[in-house]
Amino acid sequence: MNIAHLLLGSSQEFRDLPALARGTSPYLSYRDLWRKVAVMSTHLRVRFGLQRGDRVAFAMTNCVEAIEVMYAIWHAGLAAVPMNAKLHAKEMAFILENSGARLCFVTPDLADTIAEAAKDAPELREIVDVTTRSYTFMEVGDPGPMAEAEPTDLAWLFYTSGTTGRPKGAMLTHRNLLAMTLNYYADVDRPPPGGSIVHAAPISHGSGLWNFPMLGRGSVQVFPESGKYEVPETVELMNRWPECSIFLAPTMVKRLIEHGSVSDLRPDALRLITYGGAPMYVSDLKRALDLLGNKLAQLYGQGESPMTITHLSRDYHWDRAHPRWEQRLASAGRADSCMAVKVVDEEGRQVPTGEVGEIICKGDTVMAGYWNNPEATAKSLRDGWLWTGDVGAFDEEGLLTLKDRSKDMIISGGSNIYPREIEDVLNLHPAVAECSVVGRPHPEWGEDVVAFVVTRPGTSVAPADLDRLCLDNIARFKRPKDYKFIDALPKNNYGKILKTELRSKL
Ligand code: AMP
Repeated sequence: MNIAHLLLGSSQEFRDLPALARGTSPYLSYRDLWRKVAVMSTHLRVRFGLQRGDRVAFAMTNCVEAIEVMYAIWHAGLAAVPMNAKLHAKEMAFILENSGARLCFVTPDLADTIAEAAKDAPELREIVDVTTRSYTFMEVGDPGPMAEAEPTDLAWLFYTSGTTGRPKGAMLTHRNLLAMTLNYYADVDRPPPGGSIVHAAPISHGSGLWNFPMLGRGSVQVFPESGKYEVPETVELMNRWPECSIFLAPTMVKRLIEHGSVSDLRPDALRLITYGGAPMYVSDLKRALDLLGNKLAQLYGQGESPMTITHLSRDYHWDRAHPRWEQRLASAGRADSCMAVKVVDEEGRQVPTGEVGEIICKGDTVMAGYWNNPEATAKSLRDGWLWTGDVGAFDEEGLLTLKDRSKDMIISGGSNIYPREIEDVLNLHPAVAECSVVGRPHPEWGEDVVAFVVTRPGTSVAPADLDRLCLDNIARFKRPKDYKFIDALPKNNYGKILKTELRSKL
């Protein structure tokens, strides 16, 4: 089963409905999108000589071409490697090299970054800028047949950073993506034909994954012309396109409800906001419900089980009369239909209701493992259970509340930041003896990054120098917003740094 079957079905059922739109203008119908994808697929196989299972990366700010590229990849029996547009060239280089991608599609703003990254990726043969003739030429020719794919074939190689600092490629198969899609229909929503989704969040991550359930039901996928999330533009598009769904990180929901232009939103414009990827404060959620009505659903998932572990339904958000309404809002909801979810102790024994432990889950959306990384796979997948690294507790209603992120990950503006990656860079400076990076609560971004630094005796270093070092090595959004110089890092008897103590200093 090839996930591109979803598009084939929609091209037959919803032929003339728009499949893609640039801002307020329709771009391609379902029938035309299918034809274009089938022609592009021939180019991938013939002109670029790619063979079943080969990886094709894309580094693109949100645009219609991203959807064309993805489906052409699957149509040709290849695997997509999405890359977050905000990554540093060195991070892109690691992903390109590690995945062994043969071809990479880019938007013009990222062409230089990828050209730089390509120097360290020997298997990358070609970079195609989607605004050049090299791309438009891919429309020319005859449509080829869709390649067969086994449900277990790799479809989406998603690089999630590890606490060790090196990104790991979560291997998602055609079956994983299909199960995620069916789960959306079962637990989240069944969009009507002719509905829409506005891609305001990155297409390389959550918003891109929601393309499947929307495309399977004949919705139009709308790409803001700015290529990013700007509240007035998003509101305009939600008013323009019917029955609009949108995926937003909690901080993006907050920006929406705090922006003056939210009052321009027509009451019937919005169908559903799904939010997730980071904790949402109950006070923000209540304000969002007051302003937007019964239009919110939450999901809890991770790259290793995309968008699917638990969900908090619209009904639970809206049932204000329920005696446990607030507890429900503070939770991440109940296990998804396709998932078994447990809270366990270190030995994997289920803990009693109400007790905190690590969240593990099993089901058809759980990844096949990490690409070329058997050690990390063995740690995360045990007897088919995915150990999420998240800590939480179930209540007597079967609702899961996330207590903490066991791995000290920082979530800023909906993006995950792994302290170890930043610590690795800061440690490159000769004056840095030790450092530790933690998250500090931030009203707008959820958290921001703070580095505690211990300098070597007799030396000193200016924050501006450390900032430069970060800019040279990692994505801008990951660099610390504040440096605190201290005499020694707090440690326990085993020499482990006590991050909780550092956080309490903030
Ligand atoms: P990613 O792999 O980038 O999707 O990040 C996944 C992580 O984000 C999870 O392991 C959680 O720590 C966090 N996360 C995802 N959804 C939620 C949610 N609804 N509430 C709180 N944290 C979440």
